[in-house]
Amino acid sequence: MSRLPKISRRRFIGSVSLAGLAASTTPSSLLGGFTGRPAPSAPPLSTFTYADVNVTSAAHEKQLHDTLDVLMSISDDSLLKPLRKMSGQPAPGEELGGWYLYDPAYDADKVQAGFAPACTFGQWVSAFARYYAITGSPKLRDRILGLNRLYAKTISSDFYENNRFPAYCFDKFVCGLMDSHQFAADPDAFRIMDQTTDVAMQHLPPKAVEHGHPWRKNASPGYTWDESDTISENLFIAYQRGAGERYRALGIQYLDDTYYDPLAEGRSNLAGRHAYSHVNSLSSAMQAYLTAGSEKHLRAATNGFDFLAAQSFATGGWGPGELLRAPDSDDVYASLTSTHASFETPCGSYAHFKLTSYLLRVYRDSRYGDSMERVMYNTVLGAKPLQRDGHSFYYADCNFDGKKFYHPDRWPCCSGTLPQVAADYRIHTYFREPSGLYVNLYIPSSVRWTQGASQITLTQSGDYPFQDTIKFELKASRPAEFSLNFRIPAWAVGAGISVNGSSACVAAGQFVGMHREWSDGDRVELELPRKTRLEPIDARHPDTVALLSGPLVLFPIANGQSRTTRAQLLAATQKGREWSSETPGDVLRFMPYTDIDSESYSTYTRTV
Ligand SMILES: [Zn+2]
Repeated sequence: MSRLPKISRRRFIGSVSLAGLAASTTPSSLLGGFTGRPAPSAPPLSTFTYADVNVTSAAHEKQLHDTLDVLMSISDDSLLKPLRKMSGQPAPGEELGGWYLYDPAYDADKVQAGFAPACTFGQWVSAFARYYAITGSPKLRDRILGLNRLYAKTISSDFYENNRFPAYCFDKFVCGLMDSHQFAADPDAFRIMDQTTDVAMQHLPPKAVEHGHPWRKNASPGYTWDESDTISENLFIAYQRGAGERYRALGIQYLDDTYYDPLAEGRSNLAGRHAYSHVNSLSSAMQAYLTAGSEKHLRAATNGFDFLAAQSFATGGWGPGELLRAPDSDDVYASLTSTHASFETPCGSYAHFKLTSYLLRVYRDSRYGDSMERVMYNTVLGAKPLQRDGHSFYYADCNFDGKKFYHPDRWPCCSGTLPQVAADYRIHTYFREPSGLYVNLYIPSSVRWTQGASQITLTQSGDYPFQDTIKFELKASRPAEFSLNFRIPAWAVGAGISVNGSSACVAAGQFVGMHREWSDGDRVELELPRKTRLEPIDARHPDTVALLSGPLVLFPIANGQSRTTRAQLLAATQKGREWSSETPGDVLRFMPYTDIDSESYSTYTRTV
């Protein structure tokens, strides 16, 4: 969802359809290499539950707890206020304002509060449920059950009639309710979800409609911004969790063929499309494969990810100005000077984590984990914290003149996804298959599971990505034979792995599997050599480069230096959590994204 400052929604939408049309005429033969890959025969890796994984990384846990603290401090009346007002009911309590406010006189052509009333409600309930799965706090469960019952009283046709984003809100309600069922054992969640679906379906288009296309009585532009083309993923998940066949059928009904068909054939049609919602839609395509067995949709998601990766910043972020771009264009390069809205960080990261997680689980390919890790360290983990008044971190800024900043509007979409992202770090860190474990992210943490008759706990520690070494220690109630698979990032040339002191070299860019009988007290050490390296923004601008060390982009801090060579960048040396490089008459300073506060920085350097 977007409400870009300084660009009218009308103009924005216009540019979307034109660019989309132009890109769709590009012959697929010009885009070689994106032919997709065959569906694998092995079943996908499974996920752990939120309670199976314990994260001890201070940065990850602080983001989770701080975000949830802010949201849980809001009263039920304030959370329900726009829902009650839109349903014509008494609505006591304090107004949250910002995007969350319902103002019947909202004017889409003016900048004011009231852009997307109640749109984050379902995501907040979902985040509460995931947080309950982590903390087990009985008080929190009571609150979730209470909120769902109060919400149920607001389900009405008026809510959807008065709403510019009926499908968006419905999608988030489904997410909150199915998470309440799954993680907080709300016995009424599915009943309330069915009531929601009964009413919502009378007010949604019969099939997916993309941005800018009128589909309802009120055809004014503000009423064409809904995102019914992205809702299938949650409907499929609801079906998987036992909500009934109806949700599988609805998931299929809302698959957007105009988007997926060219992608499945290896043609990029991303250009001009709204970034977050269309990357999110690639997860709907993954669920169409996982739930309904559609290999066409697997190809669409696989190719879509490749097209996305080819237009991503070195941070892993994408979609400057919230738009996806044409392959082999100058658009992403031009954005380094033309915008500060480089990547819609919490929403985009949420979509990116889900997509790369699905792809990794299906293909067991480490590059999806590399991509997820890149986005985590260089964007969302460095997001400014959600403020109590609703000011939210929204855009990561890759401009040459970059800063971290809050979105001017309070309670935007990104205040809905940040708590979900923060809760989900733990479920993306490890994956499971019957014969063992996959370690995907290197975050201080532990994971518990049962292997045959043995209770296993694997604990990882270390100061990665600021050091090369990651240590693992195994606890086992009895010896057990299984595989431990570790992601060796593509950049980690010369990587090594040692088990109980005996070490071996391993190739970069793969999951390396260690199959053996594991016993209590076994230790594994991973050595991932981080050398500085440069990545150009694209092939046509080879002198505009980002400096990286391991998964970290090293952001040059404003230093007045105008002439920097590649050699000077590559010579940067680490001291603690910063890097520096001496040049004649100056010292270049570099910081990781997580540590930047009010400093001016750039992502890329124009080298001489
Ligand atoms: Zn957002």
